[in-house]
Amino acid sequence: MRKQIAAANWKMNLSLEQAEQLIDELLSTDHTVGKDQIAMFAVPFPYLIKISEKLKGKSNVYVAAQNCAATKNGAFTGEVSAEMLDSIGIRYVIIGHSERREYYHETNSILAEKVNRAFEQKVNPVFCCGEPLQIRDAGTQNSYVETQLKESLFHLSNEQMKDFIIAYEPIWAIGTGKTASSDQAQEMHAHIRAVIAGKFGNDIAGSVSILYGGSVKAANAADIFSKPDVDGGLVGGASLVAKEFATIINSLKK
Ligand code: PEP
Repeated sequence: MRKQIAAANWKMNLSLEQAEQLIDELLSTDHTVGKDQIAMFAVPFPYLIKISEKLKGKSNVYVAAQNCAATKNGAFTGEVSAEMLDSIGIRYVIIGHSERREYYHETNSILAEKVNRAFEQKVNPVFCCGEPLQIRDAGTQNSYVETQLKESLFHLSNEQMKDFIIAYEPIWAIGTGKTASSDQAQEMHAHIRAVIAGKFGNDIAGSVSILYGGSVKAANAADIFSKPDVDGGLVGGASLVAKEFATIINSLKK
């Protein structure tokens, strides 16, 4: 079975003390991360090492970065390279979150470079895609997302695409409390898998974990994750509450 993944995206929230408390609380809240499952915590850069230490030895639990630079290393003030992430043992990085696309003007071609930098360091990308409200209203979401995938991922090799992680996050559902219905999620996830299959073949497409993101919470996770092409979630707001995220982990398909 392809990996079922609950990924927390803390964004630019929490002091270090609050972050450590949240992890302590989660660890003492009933949850199980099974053999074919992953729990992931995308934490702010300054907390990567500390939170990694706290989670050391927990099987199938990983700390992720929320971004990396499109360039290798050098005179890029304020940037953090994939090489730096690798040097502190980070194995996952979110690339192309809609907030990065919108506020920092990250285009599909910049994101293709970020994916390349991550792969060069054997850091696994969690690649985000998803349409804004006006595209959904116009009914052109399938071709919009297809273009995002083509322009950022179609240069990859079959080997790189195997077990790849994609997060489908409709922008109109992020942080708005407005969740896509589980049927809307399934429809787009099936489309994403078909697009990947068209380029890389059915076996590779079948190995790709496609997470849903957009106002996932304890109350709706099991319904959304039950759909055949939904392999877990990328979770913002609800990941800041230990009980909520523990329930979301427990809602992953077994
Ligand atoms: C996100 O930021 O990736 C996200 C899905 O946020 P939220 O769960 O708060 O909608």
